[in-house]
Amino acid sequence: MRVGAVGTFNTSYYNKSRNIKQNRVHNINRADVVSFKGLFNSEPDLPTRFKYGLEALDDQSVFVVTSDEKSSNMMLEFYADKIDIPVMKKYTLPVKKGELKNQDELASNFAIFKNGREYYILSLADHDLKTMLVANPKDSFDAKNKLSSGDKKLLKDGYAIDTGELFFSEKNTFVFTTPNQRGASNAEKYLKVNNLTNYSDFNKTTITALKDQKNPGMGEKGFFFSDIGGLDNVIETLKKYVVRPINYPQVFENIRLNKGILLWGPPRCGKTLLGKALANEAGAKYTEFNANELKSGTVGASEASIRAVFKKAVSDAPSITFIDEIDSIAKKRDGSSNARFDDPMVNQLLGCMSDLEKTKAPAFIVAATNRKDLLDPALLASGRFGLHLEVPLPDEKGLKQIFNIHAKNKPISEEVSADELAKMMSSHKFNGSDVAEMVTDAYFYALERLGMFEKMDNKTFGYADLQKIAISKEDFHLAMQKIVKQKI
Ligand code: ATP
Repeated sequence: MRVGAVGTFNTSYYNKSRNIKQNRVHNINRADVVSFKGLFNSEPDLPTRFKYGLEALDDQSVFVVTSDEKSSNMMLEFYADKIDIPVMKKYTLPVKKGELKNQDELASNFAIFKNGREYYILSLADHDLKTMLVANPKDSFDAKNKLSSGDKKLLKDGYAIDTGELFFSEKNTFVFTTPNQRGASNAEKYLKVNNLTNYSDFNKTTITALKDQKNPGMGEKGFFFSDIGGLDNVIETLKKYVVRPINYPQVFENIRLNKGILLWGPPRCGKTLLGKALANEAGAKYTEFNANELKSGTVGASEASIRAVFKKAVSDAPSITFIDEIDSIAKKRDGSSNARFDDPMVNQLLGCMSDLEKTKAPAFIVAATNRKDLLDPALLASGRFGLHLEVPLPDEKGLKQIFNIHAKNKPISEEVSADELAKMMSSHKFNGSDVAEMVTDAYFYALERLGMFEKMDNKTFGYADLQKIAISKEDFHLAMQKIVKQKI
């Protein structure tokens, strides 16, 4: 139920958003419907995700509850001056049609932010927030808590955000409670996250940049931490030592940062993914090399390429330079003979790392290896690659997380249990890449089983067929067997 908009700004904005929604009905809705029916059901419910958003809030982030991110961004821009913190990150809790009981859609948006120890709610509606949200305004209207468009209100523990059917509580009321647990990892998994860097103030430019950002995911903008499963501790450490220092240089100005990070562990468990996501999370430039590319037969050329890599890292700063298979150029030096043979590449690396450490440039070198044991110990010392993070084979819980990441937005039938699959994958010692491959293969098995290939070849494949695609338990089992066979 939507009351008439106030002013031309709002009217045109709503007209615009209606058009967008109409397009959605035809193009995107299917993915939502199918994934929600299937495994996606295991995603926490709306109130829980709301709680995650609150947990994630710090003094540089804003949390927006919205059905239409685009219009909420326009509203945020409009009311930018009401938010008194520099916003570096936006968590969005999208409210989907199917999650609302009596309303077709959430007719309003609101933002919550934290300043010091206090939380604020800001109505991004063009009307009174409450009357717009409640399913039955008669029952829940309470003038005391009324919040109008652009109103900012201090949120105290126990404050009732009267959202009607939105949060499904018995009294149609959601009570704001200060979260006990703090941390963004849940929010990063279940909410949309937009990062902002290089802005010190929350202003129109910031918001405009925010609007232009694509949703995190496997799209054009690459990977984010929320695309990586089973590595929460590694991610937390990278945030601590890299992401925050890059985003808040003032805080870390006189702190000696570890510019060299070693990711080690078995193949295909997410090391490269971590490097890419790290750069995106920190808003840093990403460059990737395989250490073998740096080797050259010509005298002095290998050392020159190492120097060039470091030079570029510094000039690109903030930057993340990912060097894969570092063991191929940084093997232990042979200390067995008296006249010690020093590998010039190892020496060059050591020299470059020492120089890098002396500069203030936020240039981080992330090296990866499957063979930490082969590396020259001098390189592993502090001041060189001093931060060693293990990226192990995922355990059952990790496999479930990885599976859910890759299963997202895939049509999966309800009978499929992520827990059961995770258990089986664990017994077969699956790595992250095996999980991704299993999901893809299972999709192909489903297409085959449902006769979709024939239809495609006969050109009889239509929209109705698209609706019928659902990956079954059997499809996953077949895909798993195929991978297990390949592993032997
Ligand atoms: P290598 O040691 O062989 O270079 P790696 O550890 O760098 O491997 P990645 O290249 O990051 O592994 O992973 C390969 C692919 O496997 C990823 O693109 C992704 O699809 C999937 N994958 C691996 N680990 C994970 C994970 N932890 N979470 C989600 N996906 C993963």
